[in-house]
Amino acid sequence: MGWQSNTNPFSRAPHEVAGAPFTIIGLRGILSLMEAPLSKTDDQWRELLSEEQFLIARKKGTERAFTGAYWDHKAHGTYHCICCHEPLFSSQSKYDSGSGWPSFWQAIRKEAIAEETDSQYGMIRTEILCSRCHAHLGHVFEDGPKPTGLRFCVNSACLSFEANPQESADPES
Ligand SMILES: [Zn+2]
Repeated sequence: MGWQSNTNPFSRAPHEVAGAPFTIIGLRGILSLMEAPLSKTDDQWRELLSEEQFLIARKKGTERAFTGAYWDHKAHGTYHCICCHEPLFSSQSKYDSGSGWPSFWQAIRKEAIAEETDSQYGMIRTEILCSRCHAHLGHVFEDGPKPTGLRFCVNSACLSFEANPQESADPES
């Protein structure tokens, strides 16, 4: 692609553009774009995910215990949604629940996780989902450690891990 001056937003009013594109959108605008709900068709998700990831994250499947990538994963960093890459859990709140699934006692921020009642298999459980793209993640139980007493029991297949050498879990920084 060559230079096209007629598509250059700076070409119309060069005397007033310094910084303008950034102040118009602003940080708040960028954040709201990032947090906008994300929906795709099954075909679109299949293109982005492996078959296992699709069946678990988009069709509410469950990986077998002690088989996922992260149940015994101890590195410092952030676990993101496999579908939309939203940060969901920090390694700082990961613990060994003995269940064979990655377990966390809190989400990286409360709003990142949505909850729904799941009455499949004759049990009343609380399903957890990614707030942004509604990916199925797993379930939350009330047998976790202090300080929350919660156990977010998550399928490895629904997560992608990014190492964070600073160990910072602050999404604002
Ligand atoms: Zn998501």
